[in-house]
Amino acid sequence: MHFKNIISSLTLLAFFIGFNSCSGVQNEQPSEDPAPVLMISIDGFMNEYLERNDTPNFDRFLAEGVRAEYMIPVFPTKTFPNHWSLATGLYVENHGIISNSFYDYELDARFSYGAPDGQHDERWWGGEPIWVTAEKQGKTSVNFFWPGSEATFDGLQSTKWVDYDGSIPDSTRIDSIAAWFDPAGDVQADFGTLYFSFVDSRGHRYGPDAPEVDEAVIEMDLLLGYFLEKIEGIGLADQMNIVLVSDHGMAKQSEDKVIFLDELINLDDVDIIDWSPVAMIRPHEGKTDEIYNALKENEENYRVYLKDEMPERFHFSNHYRIPEIIMIADMSYSITNRDYFEDRGVVTGMHGFDNMEPEMFTFFAAKGPAFKINEIEGPAESINIYELISHLLQIEPAENDGSLDEVKKFLKP
Ligand SMILES: [Zn+2]
Repeated sequence: MHFKNIISSLTLLAFFIGFNSCSGVQNEQPSEDPAPVLMISIDGFMNEYLERNDTPNFDRFLAEGVRAEYMIPVFPTKTFPNHWSLATGLYVENHGIISNSFYDYELDARFSYGAPDGQHDERWWGGEPIWVTAEKQGKTSVNFFWPGSEATFDGLQSTKWVDYDGSIPDSTRIDSIAAWFDPAGDVQADFGTLYFSFVDSRGHRYGPDAPEVDEAVIEMDLLLGYFLEKIEGIGLADQMNIVLVSDHGMAKQSEDKVIFLDELINLDDVDIIDWSPVAMIRPHEGKTDEIYNALKENEENYRVYLKDEMPERFHFSNHYRIPEIIMIADMSYSITNRDYFEDRGVVTGMHGFDNMEPEMFTFFAAKGPAFKINEIEGPAESINIYELISHLLQIEPAENDGSLDEVKKFLKP
């Protein structure tokens, strides 16, 4: 999955071009087309990663474009909820992807980021992703990965998309995207997404401060350089709006910062929808008060809320998948049980915490004809990216929770 695979992956390119062609609405291009737009997600990428590493390709990107001081993700600061908010402009309570893995008692089914069925099943994914908004309005969208891109919406999907397979080399993803955007190619995409996971994986395994993460950041810099070369090769170097985002930050955990849920409540009285760092607890019939009171009396190193009492700023009450009791670990704490902990310990790096914790803040930068050059602006909020991209593509956004006004500061006047 690293840079050395770039050459060998060229042979795979032919395989992926023309893969999964499908339901795109026919293009009806007005004479003055907006510049094509590509949104790239580098999972788990923090601002500070750039400050402590030598990253010439990021430097070049930032010098030619604009960046936010930082980006505020949505709560909970997990991968799937955040990628889906980036794609739809909806808070989690309005799109229903409440975590990376959760149980839905109405569907009587488990959503899991690793299970292919969930990826294809439209019932999980609330809201309209930007690539479908674009297709509905005559644009051509492509995804070389994005959570939710395998599912249909109103029967629509991107013109090109690929089933998630983490073993597909990152360079192959870039090659395919470049071919799909090539003005001389068959697809001539207007909008696309691209996704890289390895910086996040390294952060989980070693913690955000580790030298192994620095190595991943340098690999990512090389890939960005490779991508910029490819875009230059198809003549779009200055004619494409490129939005670089990430979904959340990363925090170090340790074995002396642990909350044992089985020492606070009787686990036989509840179903745990998701564990840590946000425990989503569904008490059995008649048990809500007892469970909530037990957690409230011992509220140390976490905060506990009844669903209806969640502070408004989390936007995490108003969905049937969100259970009665929500418990949010303080920064760097893990929620676990004794047996699991004895067996598995805790993961070194984790995210999912309160989205206003600076460790969970993430990254936003953009360059292209629409964006300011060599500027740093105040914070961005990921909830507004859907509106930003709709504006860039000159399409009418679907109903969403974001605001274009909040992101206009990144655009040329
Ligand atoms: Zn992530």
